[in-house]
Amino acid sequence: MTGGSETTAWWCEQCGESLPTSKCEHGPARPHTGVSRVHLPLVPQSFNQTRYGHWTRAWKATTELNEALGYALLAARVPRPLAVVRAEATMTFPTRRRRDEGNFRTPLEKALGDALVAGRFLADDTPDQFRFGGVLFAVSPGETRTEVLLTWETKQ
Ligand SMILES: [Zn+2]
Repeated sequence: MTGGSETTAWWCEQCGESLPTSKCEHGPARPHTGVSRVHLPLVPQSFNQTRYGHWTRAWKATTELNEALGYALLAARVPRPLAVVRAEATMTFPTRRRRDEGNFRTPLEKALGDALVAGRFLADDTPDQFRFGGVLFAVSPGETRTEVLLTWETKQ
């Protein structure tokens, strides 16, 4: 469960063309667009829980999420530097319960933006470079995990 990255288009630095293969008549081409599957062995703590708790709890939850993301982005071999990243996530919980999307989306969106900038994948997590699409919930007994799907374009 380390995730991975797949290139869907390459670009040639010599002629500037976007190509469906990694070779141009001018030589090897660089990744241009692709997708990465990033796996986290946790779900973020609900913003509702951390907002009203002691600040050390929020700090611990944020640190844990940031570290897991930093590691998972490397494990998935997300290329860098990127020009644009779009993200969507599926969170799997061991039990069925009413959950508010926003309370889980907010911490992940913030932490992912921070991790992409800290790891030098993106220059900035402003909306022109980073878009967070949405979160889906799944239930599977005994499992707690988050799968983030990144759709990216490299910097030319
Ligand atoms: Zn070329």
